[in-house]
Amino acid sequence: MQKVKQTITQALKPDPYIDFAEWANEYFKLTSESSVEPGKYRTSRTPWVVEILKELSPQSAATEIVVIKPTQMAFTTIANIFLCGIAHRYPGPAMFVQPTEAMVLKHSKKKIAPTVAAIPCLKGIIKASRSKDSGNTLFLKEFPGGSWTFTGSNSQTASRSDSVRYLVIDDYDGYVQEVGIDGGPGDLFKKRTDAFGDKKKIYINSTPTVKGVSHIEAEWEESSQGHFCVPCPICKEFIFLKFGGLDADYGVKFDRDDDGQIINSWYVCQECGGIIHEWQKTKMLLAGKYIHKFPKRKKRGFKINSQYSPLGWVSWAQICEEFVKAAKALRRGDSRLMKTWTNTRQAEVWEEKGDQPEWQNLSTRAEPYKILTIPMAGLLLVASVDTQDDRLEFLLMAFGRGEESWIIYQTTLAGDPDAPEVWKKLDELLMRTYTHESGAEMHILSMGVDTGGHKTQAVYNYCRSRSPIVFALKGATAQGKPVISTASRQDVNFKGEKVKNGVSLWSIGTDVAKGTIYNRLKLTEQGHGFVHFPIGLNDEFYKQLTAEKLITKYNKQGFQVQEWMKTRERNDVLDCFVYCYAAALKAGLAHRDWDAIEADHRQVASGNPPQPKKPANRRIRSKGLL
Ligand SMILES: [Zn+2]
Repeated sequence: MQKVKQTITQALKPDPYIDFAEWANEYFKLTSESSVEPGKYRTSRTPWVVEILKELSPQSAATEIVVIKPTQMAFTTIANIFLCGIAHRYPGPAMFVQPTEAMVLKHSKKKIAPTVAAIPCLKGIIKASRSKDSGNTLFLKEFPGGSWTFTGSNSQTASRSDSVRYLVIDDYDGYVQEVGIDGGPGDLFKKRTDAFGDKKKIYINSTPTVKGVSHIEAEWEESSQGHFCVPCPICKEFIFLKFGGLDADYGVKFDRDDDGQIINSWYVCQECGGIIHEWQKTKMLLAGKYIHKFPKRKKRGFKINSQYSPLGWVSWAQICEEFVKAAKALRRGDSRLMKTWTNTRQAEVWEEKGDQPEWQNLSTRAEPYKILTIPMAGLLLVASVDTQDDRLEFLLMAFGRGEESWIIYQTTLAGDPDAPEVWKKLDELLMRTYTHESGAEMHILSMGVDTGGHKTQAVYNYCRSRSPIVFALKGATAQGKPVISTASRQDVNFKGEKVKNGVSLWSIGTDVAKGTIYNRLKLTEQGHGFVHFPIGLNDEFYKQLTAEKLITKYNKQGFQVQEWMKTRERNDVLDCFVYCYAAALKAGLAHRDWDAIEADHRQVASGNPPQPKKPANRRIRSKGLL
């Protein structure tokens, strides 16, 4: 008992002489579960963590520490050191929050538990997880004088109002911004530290996401904005390592061989133009320091990028290789890789380019392919329907290699979707065959029908009997949501009765789709991602296609949000294009065997139609209307 008392007294007694950087070098261990370099921890391997750990220490007056970071640079390790150091030397209630409960549970199990087990000084302080009532579960670990609570930003328990002295907001840009909640999604957690006043410590870190909606960007903007700078071995100036880019005369540069492989990479100093070799980095890192743009600000901000990655981690050559690949995809209108590279390697926000293409420019580049005929490279035929109260808007498109696409046909089917007539007209377009330039007959392989508006039930009824070729969809405007991801079952009919084979409703990420489409409409070179138009489409078609633009505005809580805004009354064609793209992705656009389809078409052209390989499962018959 005496011994326990002694341990508790020791644990509660703050030691003014040890901060978390010193503590880490003295006690912390990296485990094989959490690091590629397990063993005794040394801040000298990643010197940029020292100032952050010092600010997190009770000796520093800072209460909020913000880190905007690339991936794989040991920033979650900082959180783990912080938690372990608290338990050992400065106990108090602590909370560790990750975007979801599943993530934090995994972190507690795979990262925290083995770390605790590997650190001798924590033995007897934190017990292993046993049963729920032991005070040590994967969600809660108690120790003399304090506790760790692990929770997801989406968790029910997150709304409990216990006070905490220490708070970790990990991977902040992954948090969901709830509608109608004041402020950022982390504010609810931050409020819990209020009772501790100057004694509180909040550590917020994240890889950034999209400009204007990134939570960490908003925190960083208010911070001291410290950039980790290292001395140039030539001019001795402290420089912040930047990638630079193809047009810059400084930054990371590379040579490629004839095959396009990166064979050499180096750094050109922005101050003196001297060449810095990657092996010189180790020494530079050790001499590095943060230079704060606003040194007097109370909220401390820290920034670093992958150029600083220690030897043996991510090399400059690898960063270049990823850049070249991303730039190639961007040239064909696919910005996803460049966004990832910008966020995870450069720790920079990504700016969506949502400026409107000029409709006149598009109309003048129309090509003389026959309407209702699919050009040679168009190998996948899809359609979409935008449902309005008095009509259906129909768009037929072909897709090919590299997501190149062709507008084939667009029409308006007049009629009330609550009555069967207009659906009969749609069925005619769905069931008929279309001619490929090779002479082959093509059918619609996938057709998405919008359920927005007032005619949802009529759409469900139509789609249910024509599944899986025809599917019901609903546009969702969540930022960053994939164009097509999952479907949910809608099991109730218009009378509210359960339907046995309920229709699947596919949720479409319209923001991402519109961004991709607008990027592609600006391409001037045929090939990957290019969009073709046939001669004969009227001006209204082009005006509707370019009827929106991406704007940044402030919501009620004063936060920046980006959203697509209509600049013209009607945008049906753009919506239809989004749905056609989703239909093509659903039909396996990314992994279709284009060679096989072309071989079949060639056989048709040569007068020997291919034998059907198996009973056609994609043809559907009308099973009665409504
Ligand atoms: Zn220099």
